[in-house]
Amino acid sequence: MPELVFFSGTMDCGKSTLALQIEHNRSARGLQGMIYSRNDRAGRGKLSSRLGLVTEAVEAGQDLDFYAHVVGHLSSGGRVDYVIADEAQFLTAEQVDQLARVVDDLALDVFAFGITTDFRSKLFPGSQRLVELADRIEVLQVEALCWCGARATHNARTVDGRMVVEGAQVVVGDVVGDAAGDGAERPQAEVGYEVLCRRHHRRRQTSATARAAALSPDVLPVDAAGPHS
Ligand SMILES: [Zn+2]
Repeated sequence: MPELVFFSGTMDCGKSTLALQIEHNRSARGLQGMIYSRNDRAGRGKLSSRLGLVTEAVEAGQDLDFYAHVVGHLSSGGRVDYVIADEAQFLTAEQVDQLARVVDDLALDVFAFGITTDFRSKLFPGSQRLVELADRIEVLQVEALCWCGARATHNARTVDGRMVVEGAQVVVGDVVGDAAGDGAERPQAEVGYEVLCRRHHRRRQTSATARAAALSPDVLPVDAAGPHS
């Protein structure tokens, strides 16, 4: 039976590496996949992993209809044996419905890969719909680690090293403006992402703020014991 499988996890958990592995294993057996990605770190029309592997992919923009695209490819004489959709957290709910239709009406396996929750620990829309529709959900066990060494289960967004919990759901790279969401326009805030354990996500302690706290004399105020006379 063909399946819609959702491979989920945090950032850095090896999703794209697994997507490339599945692609490699199946193409080695003579199968042809239709590979989709979106906003990949290597650029448009790419699926890449942090380990440096990369393959061509169809850029799945907001307006792409997955079902129509696969049907169009098949009806023009192309071959599709399975479908891979990376960065699936960015998909709309409608696009995930289209992927389910590819499974049900075209009898193809669909492997979707995505980050489960955003930097506010809320489900991404694409991931939410995949949790609702998938035949199977695989939580990836390649362990990403928090700076404290605990298993990282949450994604944090940082602006100039400090964790923020407000702002647009998708921000890539440097931004100009009120990135910290505190009303202050900053000309070139450095936006980054970091995986944390839940405890440090709740406490908003990133590696940078933990390091700063460890170095800061404020941790043990010199006058904590009161004035000596
Ligand atoms: Zn931690």
